[in-house]
Amino acid sequence: MTTKFTRRQFIELSSKMTVLMGLSTNAIPDIAQALENLATGRVKVLWLQAQSCSGCSISLLDSEHPNPAELLTQYMSLLFHHTISAASGDRCMDIVEKTSKAGGHILVVEGSIPAGMPEACMMGHKPMTELVSEAAKTASHVIAIGTCAAFGGIPGAEGNPTGAISVATFLKQQKISTTVINIPGCPTHPDWFVGSLTYLAKYGLPPLDKHSRPLMFFKRTIHENCPRFYDYERENFAKSFSEEGCLFKIGCLGVITYADCTIRDRNGGTNNCIKAGAPCVGCSSEIFALKKSFLFYRKNESKYLGE
Ligand code: SF4
Ligand code: SF4
Repeated sequence: MTTKFTRRQFIELSSKMTVLMGLSTNAIPDIAQALENLATGRVKVLWLQAQSCSGCSISLLDSEHPNPAELLTQYMSLLFHHTISAASGDRCMDIVEKTSKAGGHILVVEGSIPAGMPEACMMGHKPMTELVSEAAKTASHVIAIGTCAAFGGIPGAEGNPTGAISVATFLKQQKISTTVINIPGCPTHPDWFVGSLTYLAKYGLPPLDKHSRPLMFFKRTIHENCPRFYDYERENFAKSFSEEGCLFKIGCLGVITYADCTIRDRNGGTNNCIKAGAPCVGCSSEIFALKKSFLFYRKNESKYLGE
């Protein structure tokens, strides 16, 4: 998907991208170059979807800088995407197989991998396990987008019948050594994906934390940047969602969750969970929804919080 664009458009967009990635303004020409490489097909992107709800794709369509139409039609050489590609049937299988064979692409995987039941997720006549393996082997990098792909997420919850696991765990089992970048979130934030992809296109692998998440977005906890942090310090705790005060006692997991939601906001900078009065449920965390004991699944929360 490539089209016309002007240098001026690139520079304008690059300035916005540079800010969202937290880079210095000196990086603007580099970011412009990266976007150009993505748009002109010098960096090819193949997107495969395994066990997921498509939420991360929908979230990407909420992207502001660039907006969805720009992103998909002008700034990314997206060879195939389950939800938005016009191709279907043999044509799309052909694109995926040819891309895997040629190699050198960036593989984006949305959703967890049904390692214990490959037939649970098929595309054409092939299980997704096979398609992901083939595409990952020859890719320059793999981006696991969303918590399902990054850590297993809801499909990977304890007792799941498909043996769902993260992309990195699956590739390790298959002895495929392509580097995986985890961009969690349920759903992910479009800036996290667009910023990481652009960085990758220009500079290569961004600095990552121990869970392979880009540090530019996942360096600090929700708690550290929370607008209610001073309430926490003063032990001013809310007892219900509508109350002011820190949400810790009604289940907020901001203390253990690394992401920059409270300073980035969602839906074009409109709001975030905590600003809206909802505790952080830890959707970007590496433990999100995996165990039955995870806070997210519990009822009568006050019972667990000693109230
Ligand atoms: S609302 Fe959550 S993230 Fe904010 S200060 Fe309280 S515990 Fe920390
Ligand atoms: S604040 Fe927490 S639950 Fe909300 S989007 Fe961010 S990481 Fe997920």
